[in-house]
Amino acid sequence: MQQVTVLGATGSIGISTLDVLSRHPERYGIFALTADRQWQLLASQCVQHQPRYAVLRDPVAALELKNVLVQQGCATEVLQGAEAFAEVAAHAEVDTVMAAIVGAAGLLPTLAAVKAGKKVLLANKEALVMAGGLFTRAVAEHGATLLPIDSEHNAIFQCLPNHRSDYLQQGLASSGVRKILLTASGGPFRATPLEQLRDVTPEQACAHPNWSMGQKISVDSATMLNKGLELIEACWLFNTSPTQIDVVIHPQSVIHSLVEYIDGSVLAQLGNPDMRTPIAHALAWPERIESGVASLDLFATARLDFSVPDYERFPCLRLAQEAATTGATAPAVLNAANEVAVAAFLQRRLRFDQISQVIESVLMRLPITEPASLDVVQNADSEARAMAMSVIGSL
Ligand code: NAD
Ligand code: MG
Repeated sequence: MQQVTVLGATGSIGISTLDVLSRHPERYGIFALTADRQWQLLASQCVQHQPRYAVLRDPVAALELKNVLVQQGCATEVLQGAEAFAEVAAHAEVDTVMAAIVGAAGLLPTLAAVKAGKKVLLANKEALVMAGGLFTRAVAEHGATLLPIDSEHNAIFQCLPNHRSDYLQQGLASSGVRKILLTASGGPFRATPLEQLRDVTPEQACAHPNWSMGQKISVDSATMLNKGLELIEACWLFNTSPTQIDVVIHPQSVIHSLVEYIDGSVLAQLGNPDMRTPIAHALAWPERIESGVASLDLFATARLDFSVPDYERFPCLRLAQEAATTGATAPAVLNAANEVAVAAFLQRRLRFDQISQVIESVLMRLPITEPASLDVVQNADSEARAMAMSVIGSL
């Protein structure tokens, strides 16, 4: 019986994870569930799944949760605060941690799981984008197992050779890989006339054609910054460089990514766009379990299209590719500026087309340094946030 902590249990990935876990009560026990402040949903998840601990960041929400769980006779113990996330991620009785907090807030709890040598299922791509070098070194040092949940990276992982230690030590080329083809749907504005992008609303940006996701990643998919974060994520996960990764627009989201080998073989992973597939894959790896996802109907899919991304439409993708090439703290700065810009867009304080302007302006103004320690990374993150807020104020 594996004990699982779900960080970000009330989010889109968290809910899908609980769905998969509850299909296999004989394999998985739920040790802890965490959330930011959504105490009502967390309460019903506690009543249903009976975890040992529930953690909320917000103190008022934690009190509400405590009260309602007592009323309902649920024995789950409620903890509060950011340190408690790390405690339930690193606890000696935990085997597996689903890292599904959104944004930079996920970095410390995810790293705590890594440093405790857990099996870490990584949805929180921002953690790897911010601190990839420190993160992957900690994985190796502490004997953690890092498995990708992002559908593209999970697909790539499935298409790569099983001997991970070869490419993790010597680079992907050593395993006969020529390149990675990272697929992208192009989001809701793939075909919107360019002059209309200025006035698109948060509702339109969050209405993804193929995937149902949290708001932040939905906006990132609409700007394609998400694909840029994923490019950086792939470099760290698979020990490769941005030059070995091509982004391919594939609007149907049926092929989740591909790997091309030097002999001309191209392997792809296909499936319905449902995150329960990569979640089930990573949970049970190297075994396979039922996920609840329906069979892929190729006759209904009928066709698969591919095209080159348009940088005029998606300037955020170019900015992220440049940050990937620059390396050092550039990805952390890009990520922080984007988080601030997306929050402002969602609050209607910033236009959609200004998201890339904010990121570009912050990247141009802030010095990029070697991310020698977590302090350096966190400092770059907070400076970029402050700078992004001042840029937004001046627009
Ligand atoms: P979401 O917004 O639906 O959920 C986020 C979760 O994180 C919630 O449980 C929320 O309570 C918690 N949270 C938010 N801020 C927090 C804070 N400051 N401290 C602690 N907890 C906090 O997001 P999501 O769509 O589930 O995405 C989660 C992560 O998975 C993101 O990094 C995203 O990029 C990645 N991801 C998501 C999908 C998807 O299909 N949703 C696909 C690939 C990758
Ligand atoms: Mg993805």
